[in-house]
Parts: sequence; structure tokens; C-alpha cells
Amino acid sequence: MFTGKTALVTGSTRGIGFEIARAFAAKGANVVVNGAGDSARVSAAASEIAKEFGVEALAWRADVSDPEEVDAMVAAAREKFGVVDILVANAGVQHVAPIEDFPLQEWRRVLDTNLSSAFYALRAALPGMKARQWGRVILIASAHASIASPYKSAYVAAKHGLAGLAKTAALEVASHGITVNAIAPGYVWTELVERQIPATMAARGMTREEVIDKVLLAAQPTRRFVTPREVAAFAVFLASEEARAITGAILPMDGGWTAQ
Ligand code: NAD
Repeated sequence: MFTGKTALVTGSTRGIGFEIARAFAAKGANVVVNGAGDSARVSAAASEIAKEFGVEALAWRADVSDPEEVDAMVAAAREKFGVVDILVANAGVQHVAPIEDFPLQEWRRVLDTNLSSAFYALRAALPGMKARQWGRVILIASAHASIASPYKSAYVAAKHGLAGLAKTAALEVASHGITVNAIAPGYVWTELVERQIPATMAARGMTREEVIDKVLLAAQPTRRFVTPREVAAFAVFLASEEARAITGAILPMDGGWTAQ
């Protein structure tokens, strides 16, 4: 399905991003695997995907909150594969605290990593897509792109921002064979969710079990977590030819959370 195409997935060493990179590789795409942590971890994730699916996987350690690092990553991808056909801006971080206690550096880190990073990646990748008159951009937003939860001011602001960015970019490139959409998942069981449980316990005075039951799963009428593989399958569909009429859309995948 994507043989000869290249998918760059930010934040793809684990969680949702890793499954998205795997899903594109499973359909024949070469992939760029990215993370900001240990280079060895980025390389291990890329090697695992290359071995499993027999595609080429470029491991690229870059902090997506730094525009120069994003430019260098996209340039490396273009040098190796010619073009970035599919861009998935997935990297994201969370910080949970009441506004008055929210550290400024965390506000900036969440905004830079979740929102500005997607702008940097779009800016770097769109010229190559325009030159080929084909491209797919998928931003991994959140149910928090359209609704809010207390104590997540930076994350909610960043995800609402991503929705605006997806719509704006979609309009700018609509006549170039490029679509730009955002997937808005509900709660997906990954390290990002696991790590916010202690702060949510503190902010709401709840036990771990209460946070899972009364905060996380209570939001989703299906009473189950979305899985990374479900998000990945949706991303693959959005990159297909059949999805070319879908652009500028913020697409919920949240077990009914935002239907309420
Ligand atoms: P995760 O913590 O499991 O993985 C995050 C990935 O992003 C990792 O690969 C990490 O290395 C990378 N990353 C973090 N900061 C980075 C940086 N500065 N530069 C480059 N890479 C960086 O998280 P996840 O749950 O898989 O989340 C992925 C995306 O999905 C995020 O944008 C998140 O907001 C979004 N999302 C998650 C959920 C959920 O419930 N897990 C729900 C809705 C949306």
C-alpha cells in the first residue's frame, strides 16, 4: 500500500507513535523513527521495525521542541529517502497541576513539545510534499482538542492549538494533493497516562484505582481504553488514497467521550 513512500513519525520510540510507525512499515513504507531520549532506544525501536517488516527505518534522535533539530531530522529523511510523504506529528508530553502551581517551565515544555513541534515539522516537510503534489499529515491531538479537564491547562491549550493548526494547514495545501488532519484519541493506556496518575491522585485526593475508574474510564462511555493499534490503523486509513477527501478534520476516537 505504501511501498516506496516514507513516513516520519515523531515520538515513535514507544506508545502510540511506535504503533503508528509499525503500522506504516507493515504496509511497506520506509519509516523515520524519532525520540528525544536515549539514542540507543531510538535505534532499538527503528531496528525492531526494520527487522519485523523488511523496510528501511532511519533512527533519528531529535528534540521536536527545537526547530533546528526538526529541520535536521527532515533533511536527513529527505537525504535518505528523497521525500517525507507522510508526516505524523505525535510526540507529546503532559503535566498535571492547578494553574496557580503550574511551573512556567512545564507550561513552556508542554506547549513547545505538543504544539510548536507540529508547526516546525509541517514547515520543514510541506515543501517536499508540494513538490510532489502528494502528502499526508496527521497530527495526534486528543479529546482535549475540543473539551477540557481541570489541572491540564497547558496540554488542553496545546491540543486546542493543534486543532487550529490542522485546519489552517489543510486550507493552505488543499490544492496540492496534501491532506492535513488531526486524530483526537480519548484515553489510551501508555506511559503518558501511567505517569500522570500520581499527580492526578494528589490534585484530586484520590487513590490510583479511583483515578483510573472515576477520572479516566469515567470519561469514556465504552468504559475501555483506546489502544495504540486502533489509533495506528486510523492513521493508515487517513494516509490512503480513499481518504483524500478528508482534510482539515479533527477526528474523535474516544469511546464516545466528546459525544456527551
Ligand atoms: P508516550 O509517553 O508513551 O510516548 C511519547 C513519545 O514522544 C515517546 O516516544 C517520547 O520519546 C516522545 N517524545 C517526548 N518528548 C519528545 C520531544 N521533545 N522530542 C521528540 N520526541 C519526544 O505517549 P503516548 O501516550 O504514546 O502519546 C503520544 C501522543 O498521543 C501525544 O501527543 C499525546 O498527547 C497523544 N495522546 C495520548 C493519549 C493517551 O491517553 N495516551 C490520548 C490522547 C492523545
